Amino acid sequence: MSASPASSSFPSLIQHYINGQLAPSDSGRRQDVFNPATGEVSGKVVLASTAEVDDAVAAAKAAAPAWAETAPLKRARVMFKFKELLDKHHKEMAAIITREHGKVLSDAMGEVTRGLEIVEFACGMPQLLKTQFSDNIGGGIDNFNLRQPLGVTAGITPFNFPFMVPMWMAPLAIATGNTFILKPSERDPSASLLIAELFKQAGLPDGVFNVVQGDKVAVDALLHHPDVAAISFVGSTPIAEYIYSEGTRNGKRVQALGGAKNHLVVMPDANLEQAVDALMGAAYGSAGERCMAISVAVAVGDVADKLVDALVPRVKALKIKNGMEADAEMGPVVTAVHKAKIEAYIADGIAEGAKLLVDGRGLQVADHEGGFFLGGTLFDHVKQDMKIHREEIFGPVLCIVRVPDFASAVNLINAHEFGNGVSLFTSDGNTAREFSRRIQVGMVGINVPIPVPMAWHSFGGWKRSLFGDVHAYGEEGIRFYTRYKSIMQRWPDSIDKGAEFTMPVAK
Ligand code: NAD
Repeated sequence: MSASPASSSFPSLIQHYINGQLAPSDSGRRQDVFNPATGEVSGKVVLASTAEVDDAVAAAKAAAPAWAETAPLKRARVMFKFKELLDKHHKEMAAIITREHGKVLSDAMGEVTRGLEIVEFACGMPQLLKTQFSDNIGGGIDNFNLRQPLGVTAGITPFNFPFMVPMWMAPLAIATGNTFILKPSERDPSASLLIAELFKQAGLPDGVFNVVQGDKVAVDALLHHPDVAAISFVGSTPIAEYIYSEGTRNGKRVQALGGAKNHLVVMPDANLEQAVDALMGAAYGSAGERCMAISVAVAVGDVADKLVDALVPRVKALKIKNGMEADAEMGPVVTAVHKAKIEAYIADGIAEGAKLLVDGRGLQVADHEGGFFLGGTLFDHVKQDMKIHREEIFGPVLCIVRVPDFASAVNLINAHEFGNGVSLFTSDGNTAREFSRRIQVGMVGINVPIPVPMAWHSFGGWKRSLFGDVHAYGEEGIRFYTRYKSIMQRWPDSIDKGAEFTMPVAK
């Protein structure tokens, strides 16, 4: 049986994947999944009942002891094979993403690459799980530590990276010896089933990786299930906060990554051409539906007018079309509901007195009249307390805030409730150094617009962009998915006796 939703046609029903196979749902609840470029329904996803989540947890629990006992080297070999299969299915995975999310295919290919990098990191798990050993701390005692798996772990993921964000979690959870349940976004759920199928082909035992499709009912069932030891969440801030408080209240380890409002500061000494290129890609790439998207350009001193002059024609010239078309620079947004929400923010911006330089509303794309398209939108003279600056819009809307100097830029960013990513464009080393040290944000780019850390570093924001203590993937991810144990060991008899050269006899 193939779980792949991609081969030739989409299945009309996107199901769970439990204990190594597709699992039907009798919850009676379904939700439409759209192709955002056409507005057509491409499938229906089942929405789990609590009992169906219980089935997935039971499968993951049953598989956990044997998987935890499997040598890290053998677990890593599954990851090597999984990586090989992902390489082979790279384009198929990207096409699934584009069809349900809307982002352009080249960007979806990039998403798959960034996810693959975490799988490659997880391939090194035997080395990564190596621990510390103190020989002979006194009296023939040695002290060393282990990093042991937690048991059943779960990941709840957002719509905007249906492959990459699950890869921030599952490869590390599994390679460290846990079993894993993925609850993907109900808006673009199909990538999860190709992931499941490729894990199976890679030789992962049944029950180690499971998928439950669903909404709040599934999430609440995971949050309350006593056999779920840890939950990783990525999504919007109100839900992240809920997951963190509810999960920890139920005794679980929780890391919950939330929303963002990322600023890019342009200093008067910046290379303007590079800054404008960076802003175009970082604000409008993936239609602004990235947690690391730049949604605010902070223009310092006299740079603002030059920035506006350079940006306006570029925003108007964006090639916005079906993401499957080779020259598309920006696709549609994910759903009609999300489109309406972004349009409402644009109306708010106008009402609050920001100057709308480019209005993306009302865009029509030829032969795609039903698609959820919005043009690139640009606001100038945005003020700190306006709603379009305070809140995450998560669409192709860039706001320019004008500030007189560097200190005002730093203060503006540090006062914001979010602290996910930030970027500074300058040609001055000391300004860059001061900025990196003073800014209250988890991920900083210097002349780099979207500073997503590599797989062997860790990803996470500060303030209300992350609830919990550890960031995702890299070393922090390994810490999250393992429990630290310290062992003190002495073997007095055998140490005293040393080597024996005569045959031991029973006394
Ligand atoms: P979302 O919060 O609506 O959904 C995320 C997940 O939570 C989904 O699986 C969804 O089914 C579930 N969910 C939604 N409402 C729920 C509820 N009331 N109770 C329980 N579960 C619920 O987020 P989204 O719209 O899918 O994704 C976009 C958001 O994710 C943006 O805010 C973006 O910044 C954020 N994001 C953050 C990061 C990061 O690393 N910080 C990365 C990607 C996306």
